Amino acid sequence: MTDLARILDTGLEWLYETVQPDDAHQQHHGITLHLPEANRWYGFCPAGARTRPVVSVDVTKKEYEFDSVGDSVPANPLKPGELEALADELRRRGFEADDTWNGRPGTTGSVGLARPAHPSLVAAVDRYRRGCTVHPQQSVFCNCEHWTAEAARIVRPATA
Ligand SMILES: [Zn+2]
Repeated sequence: MTDLARILDTGLEWLYETVQPDDAHQQHHGITLHLPEANRWYGFCPAGARTRPVVSVDVTKKEYEFDSVGDSVPANPLKPGELEALADELRRRGFEADDTWNGRPGTTGSVGLARPAHPSLVAAVDRYRRGCTVHPQQSVFCNCEHWTAEAARIVRPATA
């Protein structure tokens, strides 16, 4: 088992099998898991495009160089086939990956999953989008005890 396998298993378990409390909210971008050995981080977004989960890969420390016409371009983009390999790894785990975005020559890429996230996680994202119920005028930007406690109640992977 590689570290990427551990990251994918952890992230998928969070998206699909973790029951969230009904008094917690989750910011819609979800969680990130880091793989420093590969200079990558992976994102697990519960409700991205089409309100379905999106798994993303990003270069952590980006480097840039100038191309032949003097434009700044990524010097360490995603590897050829890296985004497709990520989609294949997700499919191998039984999750239909029905779309990809970006990828090489960029430093970020995303894979859209067909199956919706766990209903309790989707509900927690809806609670985030609804904003603070004590201070509706503050929406998601509230700093009060109620709002921060609601965020803190989300169940996260031990490694996140
Ligand atoms: Zn508040």
